[in-house]
Amino acid sequence: MRKKLIAGNWKMYKTDEEAGRLASGIADGFDGSDKADVLLCPPFTSIKTVVEVVEDSPIFVGGQNMGWEKEGAFTGEISPEMLLTLGCEYVILGHSERRQYFSESDQLIGKKCQLALSLGLKPIVCVGEQLEEREADKTEEIIRTQVEGFSAEVDYSRVEEIVIAYEPVWAIGTGKTATPDQAVEVHKLIRKIWKEKYDKQIADGLQILYGGSVKPENSDDLLGEEEIDGALIGGASLSKDKFLKIISSAT
Ligand code: PEP
Repeated sequence: MRKKLIAGNWKMYKTDEEAGRLASGIADGFDGSDKADVLLCPPFTSIKTVVEVVEDSPIFVGGQNMGWEKEGAFTGEISPEMLLTLGCEYVILGHSERRQYFSESDQLIGKKCQLALSLGLKPIVCVGEQLEEREADKTEEIIRTQVEGFSAEVDYSRVEEIVIAYEPVWAIGTGKTATPDQAVEVHKLIRKIWKEKYDKQIADGLQILYGGSVKPENSDDLLGEEEIDGALIGGASLSKDKFLKIISSAT
């Protein structure tokens, strides 16, 4: 059985002091579980603080993005090694906000994914359709293009380390959530694409998270689905109590 992963994406919220306080509250409320891992992805400026705060807990820390080269003259970018040496084990890649506001393509996301894997950082690659695409019955086409597009850049030997997050864009930060059935349908599609591309064993092992307005009110239903291997959470991860409640739905 796949272990669940509950990941908080703090986006561009929380000063360093606030981030330390939130991480400390979450660490106090989570002792570890064989059913779920917990991951915090604070802004880059607070990674060091959060790593120190959760040091004696089972909580993992990750980046929200990274550059596509190992190092170089890329003003404003953060390299994978910078994340690793601070203590990160994961990195979120291709979040819809990166695709929308920073024009990230599947190819670029794939390049970042390959680089992260080659250095030992676990990528959580986000895919998801827009509302108009769902309404035009294009969800399958969009998901297939995104999954095949980024994975074309990745070496076969490393694919087992990839985590995929299905995040329908219409559900992110909107309060609208995909129903468990809608999420499961797309998770099954992603697993099918993975099986066509690789093999059954690799597809069965793929961790697929759901993201899009996950909150305490819907986390039991979503995380109760065997196909849903965890959640990527934005808004509700900024509240210790809400995030801990979502963790408890997985454990
Ligand atoms: C996200 O940012 O990945 C996300 C799912 O946000 P929210 O939970 O706020 O919809």
